[in-house]
Amino acid sequence: MDANISLESLPCADKLPFDSRESAGAAAVYAGFRYAGTKPHPYKCRYCDRWHLSTHVNQNEEP
Ligand SMILES: [Zn+2]
Repeated sequence: MDANISLESLPCADKLPFDSRESAGAAAVYAGFRYAGTKPHPYKCRYCDRWHLSTHVNQNEEP
């Protein structure tokens, strides 16, 4: 493994990182209000070890 991997090279580089599930969850609630009909849920990222929000079901970003 390359220990010097940069965040910009991660597959999730375009996603918002959160430090905790609580932070992501709060953002998910806000996003839920903004985009009615979607149900974003927080998940732990295996690439950057932080939390992101997912609004898709069939992507390789499930826990
Ligand atoms: Zn990530």
